[in-house]
Amino acid sequence: MALLDIIKLRTQFPSQDGMVKAVDTVDLLVAEGERLGLIGETGCGKTVLGMSIVRLLQPTTSIEGKINYKGRDILKLKEEDMRRLRGKEIAMILQNPTTSLNPVLKVGDQIAEAIRLHQGLGKREANARAIEMLQSVHLPDAAANANQYPHELSGGMRERVMIAMGLACNPEFIIADEPTKGLDIKTKMQIVELLREATLHKAMLMITHDLGVAGSICDKIAVMYAGELLEEASSQEILNDPAHPYTQGFINSLPSRGLLPIPGTSPSLICPPSGCRFHPRCRMATKTCEMKHPEMVQIEKGHLVRCHQFN
Ligand code: SF4
Repeated sequence: MALLDIIKLRTQFPSQDGMVKAVDTVDLLVAEGERLGLIGETGCGKTVLGMSIVRLLQPTTSIEGKINYKGRDILKLKEEDMRRLRGKEIAMILQNPTTSLNPVLKVGDQIAEAIRLHQGLGKREANARAIEMLQSVHLPDAAANANQYPHELSGGMRERVMIAMGLACNPEFIIADEPTKGLDIKTKMQIVELLREATLHKAMLMITHDLGVAGSICDKIAVMYAGELLEEASSQEILNDPAHPYTQGFINSLPSRGLLPIPGTSPSLICPPSGCRFHPRCRMATKTCEMKHPEMVQIEKGHLVRCHQFN
């Protein structure tokens, strides 16, 4: 059953150079207990998509379409109802703990504050629960670490604090934005393992540029490029039998697959290329690709691709 059903989502915001079409007509479904990886290069719109779900964007942002969570359109909720939903049912583990954590508050107090806000516990109980949460993410000395400020912890420990904060109110749906960015390989693998354990039987949207991380933890992967989805399938199919030239290029750029970069750079989200947005970088592009925008089509059950080769 669908827990989250995103229908024709368009998120745009103004900039000095024009309207940034960060998310352009995206359909996405996350079933109960499913872990979906949203992958793509930096700046393709994936973080904006995550922020649209929790409605944590600037007031000047325009969001159109539907984001149905348990059958209710989140975009129609009053801010007060949205606040209740955030943290309690849907938690977002924000990117970059260094800037997301409050530098002048001890980490235990930051987690306890979230617990008090959403669960109505007293100060003492909330503090005890915060230490429990830090234990659950395997911090070496949870009680002592709760009394530390973010700058006193390593990058891996700060990421664990972010995960503890996200899970503190036992949410049903977790959005994890680049949870392994900037971590060394060993810490990255530990965080992946921790997320796998912590999200067992929960639904998760993992936003990452790291296909290896998404493949090792997610059931399904959706590939995003220049604000739209290009391919969606089971993780196994994406990793072993990708259909879209961009996904194939993305996989070939992995260290384990030859480290071959995709030529060119990500296009502008203000004025994306005509036709297929990937055509300036695609080795298979034809005249049709330059002129006609491809639709998403199903090539096998549960495997969707946006490319003229399959139309
Ligand atoms: Fe390449 Fe054309 Fe397919 Fe776009 S539609 S990915 S340009 S072959």
